[in-house]
Amino acid sequence: MSQGWAGVCDAPFEGRRVLVRADLNVPLANGEVADDTRICAALPTIRLLLEGGAAVVLVTHLDRPKGWDPELSMAPVASRLAGLLGAPVELAPAVVGDEVRARAEATPPGSVLLLENSRFEAGETANDPEFAAALAELADLYVNDAFGAAHRAHATTEGVARLLPGYAGLLLERELEELTHVRDNPERPLVVVLGGAKVSGKIGVLARFLELADRILIGGAMCFSFFRAQGIATGDSLVEEAGVDLARDVLARAESSECELLLPVDLILGRSFAAATERRHLDGVEVPDGWMGLDVGPRTTATYAEAIAEAGTVLWNGPMGAFELEPFAAGTRGVAEAVAAAQGKTIVGGGDSAAALAAFGLADQVDWLSTGGGASLELLEGKELPGVAALARP
Ligand code: ADP
Ligand code: MG
Repeated sequence: MSQGWAGVCDAPFEGRRVLVRADLNVPLANGEVADDTRICAALPTIRLLLEGGAAVVLVTHLDRPKGWDPELSMAPVASRLAGLLGAPVELAPAVVGDEVRARAEATPPGSVLLLENSRFEAGETANDPEFAAALAELADLYVNDAFGAAHRAHATTEGVARLLPGYAGLLLERELEELTHVRDNPERPLVVVLGGAKVSGKIGVLARFLELADRILIGGAMCFSFFRAQGIATGDSLVEEAGVDLARDVLARAESSECELLLPVDLILGRSFAAATERRHLDGVEVPDGWMGLDVGPRTTATYAEAIAEAGTVLWNGPMGAFELEPFAAGTRGVAEAVAAAQGKTIVGGGDSAAALAAFGLADQVDWLSTGGGASLELLEGKELPGVAALARP
């Protein structure tokens, strides 16, 4: 792969202070880390640096505070990270400033100083040069390992990368490698499974893969934008109005494309978005009034599973239905099981698809589970990620 950036393994980090941008944007519940997947994904780079004699100054955003918010302090992440690393993790009193700089300078090799939530500073999302400069003062080198935030040009992902010698972390490198491989050089047939709630967020990927993939399988609420565009009744199903025109455009393009676009042929209906709602199987896709499609049906699931089994590469993004509700989880479970069992290479992106795989106990059965939802979609679409572009050396 041609790349304009260097990886962390090539960084001269022994005895140096390294600012590491990780994606530790984890869900919290009752003041504790509810899911540490992202922290675990960041460990290899942190360990590599610590074991190689660097002092690590770690920074991430957490949720979307507008200014200082004690509820979104990094304290719970600091303690979970310390537990996972088996080493102390100091929490800085702020993101930048004199006191933080003194703490960074006092951090010995082999130790971690975690900065406070980068979104406590307005300069983060504004990519403010002064804030970026204050970050750069905390270290000698910069490592970006935050794939999940690489599609944002923020101060911790982009601005600071232009001020310090920058390197890609192990996770960022692996994500780029896996996803660009699927995009540029997949083992065929390439089967793309797209679901979830909104067409608009995935339209770029859909358009791109109409050119690249052999088959695209559509599920989730997304299919109702397609059915509406085809003049098929959708009842009370969730239809993204803005997605209908996009879907019509995709259908038109699919006519002249080599790629086969598959839509559901049967559905599981409910009266409302609730586990306890009345439920029925519809052998067809004309949804009557008073009902909503909440999952793909068993015929659709079987067809999709077969296509997945025959694939050289499977790329899956977005659940097939409202999988959080057990009565409507079968389509997503069927696809997840097919992906887990597939002989071909399997790549899964998207927060809810990852959550579904984890809920079914299949997360370790796929070849690559991307940690970035938006970032993975933008990369697959062929967009340049600002956090990666900023690491490039002339
Ligand atoms: P991902 O995070 O994997 O990219 P999305 O965020 O696009 O996925 O979509 C996930 C959401 O879509 C889930 O919360 C799921 O309940 C919802 N969803 C999927 N199918 C339906 C449907 N038929 N009706 C309503 N909601 C649906
Ligand atoms: Mg989601």
